[in-house]
Amino acid sequence: MSILVINSGSSSLKIKIFSDVNKPAIVHGSLEKIGEEQSVLSCQFSQKTINKKITCADHYEGLEQFFSILKQNDALLDIIAIGHRVVHGGEDFSQPVKIDDNVISVIEKNIPLAPLHNPENLKGIQATMQMFPSVAQVAVFDTAFHQTMPEYAYRYAVPNSFYEQQKIRRYGFHGSSHQYVSKEAARILQKPIAQTSLITLHLGNGASATAIKNGKSIDTSMGMTPLEGLIMGTRCGDIDPGVLLFLLQTHTHDKLDKILNKKSGLLGLCQRNDMRDIESQDTRESQRAIKMVVHRVQKYIGSYYAQLPELDAIVFTAGIGENSILIRELCCANLAHLGIELCSDKNGNTSYGEIQKSHSKVKILVIPTNEEMEIARQTHNLINA
Ligand code: AMP
Repeated sequence: MSILVINSGSSSLKIKIFSDVNKPAIVHGSLEKIGEEQSVLSCQFSQKTINKKITCADHYEGLEQFFSILKQNDALLDIIAIGHRVVHGGEDFSQPVKIDDNVISVIEKNIPLAPLHNPENLKGIQATMQMFPSVAQVAVFDTAFHQTMPEYAYRYAVPNSFYEQQKIRRYGFHGSSHQYVSKEAARILQKPIAQTSLITLHLGNGASATAIKNGKSIDTSMGMTPLEGLIMGTRCGDIDPGVLLFLLQTHTHDKLDKILNKKSGLLGLCQRNDMRDIESQDTRESQRAIKMVVHRVQKYIGSYYAQLPELDAIVFTAGIGENSILIRELCCANLAHLGIELCSDKNGNTSYGEIQKSHSKVKILVIPTNEEMEIARQTHNLINA
């Protein structure tokens, strides 16, 4: 009895198959450069790995090719449900849902809130509904975990009509990741999740911070779109909206969109968006970029700590959070007055678990994220409910 998880990006597809939702996936697949002259398909089974270049015009063709490989390797025999990552559920979904025509039309309705992501997620859903008409399909939304934020945290201070008519508000993203690591953190801390308060820092190419009170998201750094908040690989994060008004006098909307989403962040500051490259450089630009990234993370730690007097732990996850000893060290530096004290030895030697000094009031945890496992678990729970 296995669960297939599908994550469709704009030009890529990732799949995982879980035979047990509490154990690592038994199949990992990825397809990149969909729609280009040659797409790159890779599929790992327990005993073998397949890597090949294929031609693949769209997501439907990509999934067909994947499924033909999976069938040949008997990996599709006992799929009981398919879990789909869907980026934007708007205010309509705070939980995973079984997909039907009504759910599809609500995902379509939310396309204006995520024009780059929801259409691609829908392509994956529509393709698998045609290919597996009798298998249950479940949508798990990136925004759902943050639907518990109070109104004063999710509203922007613009005229009420913008919210009432166009639903302009903070939604937050990376929900499956924040939720997954929060449950892992509660397990490590040996506390019920409903009594655990955390600041979770998802620091990857995309980055976001979340304040979690008693297991529920009460504030998060990404906003109506994934552009707000921390400094990211190519996204600017927080910026004075006045800067945008100023730049709109000389830049078209499309150009500004591209600059803020694809040419800013680390890339804009030091021509590189991979933190490994930036750490290995010893230039003024790279040092300044690292200081800016860390300064922004510390602003969020302070702001969320103010909302979480019972804070149990700070959690580092995603590519940078899981792997960068330097960024973790700097993000926790000079926070002893808040009871946050990192142990350098543990930080240098730990890829999972606690890295604080023994007397640190707040624990500091490194937890590798696993969004697909969270989607598989939620899919499993829903179909068994
Ligand atoms: P993600 O989006 O979670 O896959 O994270 C991707 C980012 O993690 C990459 O762009 C790198 O900047 C960063 N990363 C991965 N490994 C390391 C490492 N060992 N040290 C610093 N940064 C890393």
